[in-house]
Amino acid sequence: MNKRWDLSSLYRGFDDDSFNKDREQLNQILNDLENWDQKNFENNIEIALHFIDKMKAFYQVYVRLNAFSHLTVSTDARNEEGLKVIERLEKEATRLTAPRVKFQQWLGQLEDLDGMAENSPLLQEHHFVLKELAEKGRYLLSEKEETIVSKMKQTGSAAWTRLQQKLTSTLMVDVEIEGKVKKLPLPEVRNLAFKKDPVLRKNGYEAELKAYEEISEPVAAALNGVKGEVLTLTEKRGFNHPLDETLLNSRMEKETLQTMLEAMVDFLPHFHDFYKTKARLLGHENGLPFYDLFAPMGKVDMAFSLEEARDFILTNISSFSTEMADLYRQAFSESWIDAEPREGKRGGAFCANIHPIGESRILSNYSGSFTDMITLAHELGHAYHGHCLNQESILNSSYPMPLAETASIFSETIVTNAALEEADPDQVFAIIEGRISHAGQVIVDIYSRYIFETRLFEARKNSSLSVEELNNLMVEAQKEAYKESLDHRYLHPYAWLNKPHYYMAGNNYYNFPYAFGLLFGLGIYALYMERGKIFLEDYKKLLAATGKNKVAEVAKMVDIDLNSRNFWDNSLAVIKKDIDYFKGESHGRQ
Ligand SMILES: [Zn+2]
Repeated sequence: MNKRWDLSSLYRGFDDDSFNKDREQLNQILNDLENWDQKNFENNIEIALHFIDKMKAFYQVYVRLNAFSHLTVSTDARNEEGLKVIERLEKEATRLTAPRVKFQQWLGQLEDLDGMAENSPLLQEHHFVLKELAEKGRYLLSEKEETIVSKMKQTGSAAWTRLQQKLTSTLMVDVEIEGKVKKLPLPEVRNLAFKKDPVLRKNGYEAELKAYEEISEPVAAALNGVKGEVLTLTEKRGFNHPLDETLLNSRMEKETLQTMLEAMVDFLPHFHDFYKTKARLLGHENGLPFYDLFAPMGKVDMAFSLEEARDFILTNISSFSTEMADLYRQAFSESWIDAEPREGKRGGAFCANIHPIGESRILSNYSGSFTDMITLAHELGHAYHGHCLNQESILNSSYPMPLAETASIFSETIVTNAALEEADPDQVFAIIEGRISHAGQVIVDIYSRYIFETRLFEARKNSSLSVEELNNLMVEAQKEAYKESLDHRYLHPYAWLNKPHYYMAGNNYYNFPYAFGLLFGLGIYALYMERGKIFLEDYKKLLAATGKNKVAEVAKMVDIDLNSRNFWDNSLAVIKKDIDYFKGESHGRQ
């Protein structure tokens, strides 16, 4: 089985003829778009049709070029040519700003967009996207201003983002391991949190915090810069608050967010119970220190070679859905997966759905652990989501953040539950503990991050914040979310410094979508359990609709009311079951 992916269905390399042809074509499309003028057409329908056509053409080419260069660089960070191409493409894409703004403004002043869409199948197909463009058009500045803004961002927030990335990714940390001080890269030191040895976990935590002191000033400047720009722009655009812009982009109602947050807050005490129990098991009296949040419990000595993982996943997915299994099989047999860890390859895992070729590529760093296998099942779920969107127009194929994790969590849950059935009691304990820990990150920690970001925006309105002020805000947010279940002497004041999400000017509050994703995914899985196989057809339709509906409408397709407490409480009840099991089992353990 091939352990590296094959990108040749995109291009054979940066010097491939078809790569250069596509770049030329992209240039041509952008030229056309830049000359686009509504005056050149007979009527409104023609104006809209022409623009949609051009946008489709743009994305068909752009997505291919962009995917190829990003995928190449993700397994080869030092690929200079790839890095240059990415920068060029980013710059090219800013040429889209002016024509898009022009089109959105034209769309915004139309009186009967609905009526117009009814008179053309192509416009009907893109009705949602058109309405959304018109709605977002209300928050646009003039064409000239928007063009300047998009160029200035390259040297503004985007530059700050790069600075944060650079400082955190090149930071070397002095850490004591078995009596010797070693210099290690930051990700390696942060990984010590997952080690069996308690001394290593604590050393890692202390070394990490110490190392941040070196870079905290410039990173704080970056955060102040990014959030300052966001506040200026959202105000100029007419949003009351940056959160409103995020909700608009997330296609989500404020009421949904509030209902979900209320359910989360009411549920927090169950997580506090979990952390306190875990603290007791690890011998702590004042609650869990931050450095033991991820301490592994029990033993998962389950190991899987890549072939074994493939077989395990395929067998268990087949009993759910043959279509899902076929797609997963294709991913393995047609080399969509780059599983082998190697130098110069980025860490973690992701899945890229490449709509123009109807395929996906998955990156993982497979080392044979149980978690690695589940990660693979998770990413394959994303690929299935992409597969369900293949029949849709490319303009209807991108889904908002809150819906992004639906298919991955569904897939991951199927495979985890299958593994639990085969596991011995010790392994079950370890797997469930790991699952609660993960959910705790997505519910409790995400809640602390939501509080932090809200207060950061509040304070940043008046002035920049010092490192100390940022640390205090973070610690206060953690105390509020974790309460006494964490040991307040060992929190994580620098949790603002290492999280890339805070530095993405276009994705503020990139935290609550994770909680939404987990709880929505669990809710969907619960529906499957209730309705059985017949639900899978609805599930497929739901995934196919994620790119052309508001989140609430997607949920409504399977009778979920996102504004009812009931839905969220039921999803949280699934986690409660795990916590109850954990507490019950913990009595027998020291
Ligand atoms: Zn995911």
